[in-house]
Amino acid sequence: MLFSHDTEHSLACVVDLVNSEPSTATDELLGDLEALSRFVERHAVSEVGTLTDADLRAVHDLRARIRPVFGAATDGRAAEIVNGLVSEAPVTPRLTAHDGYPWHVHYFSPGAGLAEHLAVDCGMALAHVISLGERDRLRTCEAPDCDQVLVDLSRNRSKRYCDARTCGNRLHVAAYRERRRAETPG
Ligand SMILES: [Zn+2]
Ligand SMILES: [Zn+2]
Repeated sequence: MLFSHDTEHSLACVVDLVNSEPSTATDELLGDLEALSRFVERHAVSEVGTLTDADLRAVHDLRARIRPVFGAATDGRAAEIVNGLVSEAPVTPRLTAHDGYPWHVHYFSPGAGLAEHLAVDCGMALAHVISLGERDRLRTCEAPDCDQVLVDLSRNRSKRYCDARTCGNRLHVAAYRERRRAETPG
């Protein structure tokens, strides 16, 4: 494992959050409160109270602010964005063990709204990646018509596509057809 378990857990949450934005690759994936609660469940986001439309709007704003960390031109630019996220709300580091996860540190303050919670905890995970000199693992999919983001956790930094089953595969097929066309005489 490259990063700690809770950092990788938060990074998966960041990727899912940013990629929920409508784009060339997908429709809006967090369109209503039901989708938002499924997101919360999927990532075992703890201490979430009753969700409202205000939470949904705040989460939409947040994901748009996180996206530029991926593919930021410099570490300085990425750091600026991350510093904005972690100063969003009070930060209260504390050890916790919930939902069967081992002891890990939460950074959001008790009672924080969902967007504040995610800004602080996802921001800290991104801060760890950058402070370990691993920012180049925060990438955008290399398929030409896809702008989904990804975190490359592979040992040899070889992950290029958001999802090997779709983008990577689609490109392999396109490259194969291209080769076949080039080989066909006439
Ligand atoms: Zn937790
Ligand atoms: Zn892709």
